[in-house]
Amino acid sequence: MSEILANAARANVPYAIEYRSRRLDGSFAIVNEFGTFGERSDDAGFATLVDVTILRGREEQNWRAAHYDELTGLPNRSLMVQRMRIALSDAQASHELAAVFVAKIDNFRELNDTYGHELGNRLLQMLALRFGECVRGGDTVARLGGDWFGVLLAGVDTGLSISDIATRLSAAISRPFKIENRPFHLTLSIGISVAPYDGGDPDVLLRAAETAMRVAKNTGGNAFRYYDSAMSIEALQKVHRQNELRVAIERNEFELHFQPLVDILADRIVAVESLVRWNHPVRGMLAPAEFIDLADQTGLIVPLGEWILRQACRQARAWFIEGLELRVCVNVSAVQFRQPGFLALVAACLEEFGFPPHLLELELTESVMLDGFAEMIQTLSRLKALGVRLAIDDFGTGYSSLAYLKYFPVDTLKIDRAFVKEITGDSFDRAIATTILTLARELNLECVVEGVETEEQCDLLRQLGCTIVQGYLFSRPVAPDRLRALLGRPLSALRA
Ligand code: C2E
Ligand code: MG
Ligand code: MG
Repeated sequence: MSEILANAARANVPYAIEYRSRRLDGSFAIVNEFGTFGERSDDAGFATLVDVTILRGREEQNWRAAHYDELTGLPNRSLMVQRMRIALSDAQASHELAAVFVAKIDNFRELNDTYGHELGNRLLQMLALRFGECVRGGDTVARLGGDWFGVLLAGVDTGLSISDIATRLSAAISRPFKIENRPFHLTLSIGISVAPYDGGDPDVLLRAAETAMRVAKNTGGNAFRYYDSAMSIEALQKVHRQNELRVAIERNEFELHFQPLVDILADRIVAVESLVRWNHPVRGMLAPAEFIDLADQTGLIVPLGEWILRQACRQARAWFIEGLELRVCVNVSAVQFRQPGFLALVAACLEEFGFPPHLLELELTESVMLDGFAEMIQTLSRLKALGVRLAIDDFGTGYSSLAYLKYFPVDTLKIDRAFVKEITGDSFDRAIATTILTLARELNLECVVEGVETEEQCDLLRQLGCTIVQGYLFSRPVAPDRLRALLGRPLSALRA
């Protein structure tokens, strides 16, 4: 400062300085001084003094607000990115590594929904403190938003110390958090990217760490994963397929095919199962295995499932009006079934299409039984009250307890084709099929055997007491007009 003043005096130019000065009451003020010296050394100079204490205070506050998270006091994403830039250029100069973590608490949303945001916020604050104890002096722990945290390890020399810190973070969160004398157990999914291997700029490294975090999360959580470039290809493909599926729903690129269910004693078709197909503009007709899981994971099953149900009901009505008492079976995924609006949708369809409700059968897999037992029973009972039939699809492949059959108002068990494939040669498969057929008979349920492809399988099943079968022996799933043609023909003609 004295140098600035000396210069200004020597060259006879104005000057501006800022300094801290003690007020008469002993407090400090920040002062801006603008002045000039006189032309000759004995001339009086002028200076204006401005107290900028409040202004500087506000600036400091603004800076804090822009760079720190209010809830936890941790640096925010923007400050983390700034520090990453510095750390990356330092690491490059000293040939060291820099590591970036993106960490997310497993199931935090459920916790928040159950116990409220207040408690969620307190957990985040406690967690921030624990995280701060896990890193070294020059490292940064940041809150990236929500329950997302970021960690920057500047200048590390081996992968070992990176894993070490990831382990420490996981250990820090695994000690129970006590709030109002109640313990809360949390786990963390962590994704890690390392510069220079995975990229050289903050955005790329954060994105890579996020991708790795999602992989850790999707494979069960409570783990850390390093990024590898195959992940981003996979993630990109998934995003691409997801967009494609969304557009396909808007453009209505789906078709329902129908496969007959045949009563082999009465020799007639008693029902049809609707099976969705995606008429893809480039890849041709796609089977559900190619897209139903993705639709489930992304929630797109909700609009798609609604379209399927309406389309199946429209078809059921058309056949009913023709005088055909043909039951239509519709597959419902667990995600679709759990949608709050599902029951209302079924009721609306029955009302709109006006065919007898027992001509609609909903096929559910055992996975719908996995959670929310009480709620599910309620939904099933309400569906029954509407008069529709319920079937358990792929019976025997999912949930292993039979006890639920006691509580579920189901009408039909469908034996999965896995047990039929080797049924004529494999005594184990035959035993399973026999047991399910007996169980169904004892419980007064209809039993349908899927995947019957040969006369031998069909004969054996008849001997075992099976009456209704479905499979390529009679027909593959076909478009509605082809199915209509099958309905008029004798069954022996179908077996051609
Ligand atoms: P699923 O409900 O168990 O349907 C039976 C599957 O077995 C169908 O495959 C059918 O084409 C096939 N199949 C029938 N007979 C035979 C046979 O004799 N041999 C062999 N090898 N296979 C036979 P698809 O159409 O590929 O459907 C596969 C699965 O996709 C279905 O299994 C169902 O879980 C699901 N799915 C199909 N349509 C829908 C739908 O509209 N909504 C939902 N949520 N899922 C659907
Ligand atoms: Mg099915
Ligand atoms: Mg099945």
